[in-house]
Amino acid sequence: MLEVLEPATEAVLREIPRADEDDVDAAVERARDAFPAWRDLAPGDRARMLRRLATAVEDHHEELAVLEARNAGKPIRDARGEMEMVAQVFHYYAGAPERLLGDTIPVSGGQAWTVREPLGVVGLIVPWNFPLTIAAWKLGPALAAGNTVVLKPAELTPLTALRFAELALEAGLPSGVLNVVAGPGSTCGARLVSHSDVAKIAFTGSTEVGRSIAAGAAATIKRVTLELGGKSPNLVFADADLEAAAAAAPGAVFGNAGQDCCARSRILVQASALDEFMSHLEAAVSAVRVGDPLDEANEMGPLISAAQRASVASYVDGEGGGAPVAFRGSAPSGSGFWFAPTVLCPVDPGARAAREEIFGPVAAVIPFDDEEEAIRLANDTIYGLSGSIWSGDGGRALRVARALDAGVLSINSNTSVRVATPFGGFKQSGYGRELGPHALDAYSEVKSIFYATS
Ligand code: NDP
Repeated sequence: MLEVLEPATEAVLREIPRADEDDVDAAVERARDAFPAWRDLAPGDRARMLRRLATAVEDHHEELAVLEARNAGKPIRDARGEMEMVAQVFHYYAGAPERLLGDTIPVSGGQAWTVREPLGVVGLIVPWNFPLTIAAWKLGPALAAGNTVVLKPAELTPLTALRFAELALEAGLPSGVLNVVAGPGSTCGARLVSHSDVAKIAFTGSTEVGRSIAAGAAATIKRVTLELGGKSPNLVFADADLEAAAAAAPGAVFGNAGQDCCARSRILVQASALDEFMSHLEAAVSAVRVGDPLDEANEMGPLISAAQRASVASYVDGEGGGAPVAFRGSAPSGSGFWFAPTVLCPVDPGARAAREEIFGPVAAVIPFDDEEEAIRLANDTIYGLSGSIWSGDGGRALRVARALDAGVLSINSNTSVRVATPFGGFKQSGYGRELGPHALDAYSEVKSIFYATS
């Protein structure tokens, strides 16, 4: 059995059966059997089914939000927002089955055109930080394009995926179209990757595991999309609204207790504005309310596990390349994997805390002198997922946005994810795009057909 813990209390929240490789094989077989009928369903009917999934999530919004808040240790207000996004993803992709357009291409001797075909059975491997949300980013376009799926949630947070699968069946999704296997990555995840009947793996998680998935998928030439780690910069120029930039910075790095691939965990501040920025930031950090995820007033919960807390602490307790702690917020003591929001400053760009994805509530503040140095430091990382630029000079903001090697940028804001816009990384943050219209490309193949007319 698999004991699922509640990170805020360390108590067992639920015990569920732990899936193994045989369960994966059985799930793939169900998905393969369900594929022809799902692929051949009239596009309008598939669209209607996706709308029903959206409605099912809306109808069970509070139940799912509480389950996610308890299992992932995230503030209930965040969990509610995430469940709204899950519903919104299915609404958005309900528009897709009837709009998967092809091209007509001028050629001689006949007519040439393209159509988009589904891939078949798709394996979805998702992490514990945004469990149902990241699953929905993959489920929406995968199902809309006519694929059937096997979803493997993280062992730490399988509960909302399992509940969603029940709701999907109740909503009328044909049996076998969506299958959930709750088991370890090293067995169930790896089996999905090696299975010859799985056409594609869509993965979100660590760069290390992403690398092993890409290597494993090569054996069967599986399609792979990877959404991996990040070390995203938050660039604050002296000509920015410093108060606004400082007020927004904690949310951008301490949101979800820093367990966010888009966390702006490197705050690059122009040296001439450093003192003023830091005094605003200190006030903002001390105001962050950390505590019981189910208390509506709280903005940050615990870390996901004891192991994650130990890993995060290693960047702060003297092993982080000597980066000094500028100030810390507060966190509860006692049971629960708590960790207070922490700001390190000034951090040497070569320090561990400036280079590695900490995945916890630790921000590294790095001063810079001018625009050229800001761009160089921001790009000096193996990652390239997201980033922010704060400046009152529009020309500079656009110049810097073009110069940064990252997939998702925001100017005078720290947002990364919108249902209607593409999301994904450059460099070792992965490849492929989720959300928006582009995600459908990753769940379908282009077929070219020629009809001879003479
Ligand atoms: P992992 O990459 O190990 O886990 C992500 C998913 O992959 C989980 O479902 C996991 O299963 C599964 N998995 C693990 N090993 C394999 C494998 N060999 N084959 C197939 N699937 C596998 O991330 P962790 O949970 O270990 O987190 C470690 C670090 O990764 C974090 O500290 C953070 O830095 C980064 N991370 C980044 C995320 C992002 O969104 N970019 C998300 C999560 C983590 P299971 O956990 O059930 O074993």
